[in-house]
Amino acid sequence: MSFEKILEEILRKSKLSKDEILERIKRKQAELQIISLEGAAYLVAKELGILNLSSTERRLQMKNLVDGMKNIFLKGKILKISDLIEFEKNGKKGKVLNLFVSDGTDLVKIPLWNDQVDWVKKENLREGDVIEVLGGLVRENAFGEKEIILRKLGRIRKTEDDLRVSLEELKAKFLNTKPWRIKLRDATLGNYEIIATIVQVFKSKFVFPLCPACNVSVKQEGNKYLCKIHGEVKPNFILVIPCIIDDGTATLRAVLFREVAEKLLSLKAEELKDLETNAIYEIVKKNVLGKELIFVGRIRKNKFFNRLELLVNDIKHLNYIEESKKLAEKVENYG
Ligand SMILES: [Zn+2]
Repeated sequence: MSFEKILEEILRKSKLSKDEILERIKRKQAELQIISLEGAAYLVAKELGILNLSSTERRLQMKNLVDGMKNIFLKGKILKISDLIEFEKNGKKGKVLNLFVSDGTDLVKIPLWNDQVDWVKKENLREGDVIEVLGGLVRENAFGEKEIILRKLGRIRKTEDDLRVSLEELKAKFLNTKPWRIKLRDATLGNYEIIATIVQVFKSKFVFPLCPACNVSVKQEGNKYLCKIHGEVKPNFILVIPCIIDDGTATLRAVLFREVAEKLLSLKAEELKDLETNAIYEIVKKNVLGKELIFVGRIRKNKFFNRLELLVNDIKHLNYIEESKKLAEKVENYG
């Protein structure tokens, strides 16, 4: 549905004047910063309870998808098909794989469950194919990452490629683009490389037990770990370090996960899992505060807290690079 159509719909069904509606939409757009006018209008309509967000009549751009939209119609190119994950739930076998699909405006993840997995073979789907997505439900997480839930009536099918954008370009933009080096004052959504110092560490649980089958946080009861889906499991422990980085131009909240956090700390989650939070906090502070590093990662919007944050994919030590440079110079001088 276009912006004009949504506006018409709100005008018709609410008691607000056009100016009042536009004002609300603008405010919503400003509040969320990155959302399109169309997306903001959807949210206002949703808040007023006058639109069921059903939009089968027109193909939507992925950047305009918002949480809760139903019956969507999308078209996009498959950038990646994940490996098949098989699991057991209540004694029944299940499987899931994820399609990562983009139309050039954003990326969506489409999980295919159980029988839906067979569509990949039936339609002979491969990377680079363009598919239509019919009848899904949009879920958007706190980082603005979008997922399409297909459920019973949802369908995907291969269709002709009229997107006018190459697989390579989409992959660079949404999957593994070479990060730009930026200063924090210029921070915005995207993949970046930033040289900065860790100036603050937030006290958190730091070590989280995850179900090895579904990667969801499990509950600890005594010395048992229980997954809601998989019952008692032997969890994988992951390390999460939330901090603030500063490069002299601005500060930004950053989060390091798993191997990256372990690399920063030079300690494994397994080695910390039996310690009290306070003890871990002291270890983390002692080891990471004041460290100047190259942070490589993706700046996302944390919608829950309405702020930008850096999800760190890798860290590089500055000294190492300086040393490599010096070494390279030496080699040149001798050459
Ligand atoms: Zn599980």
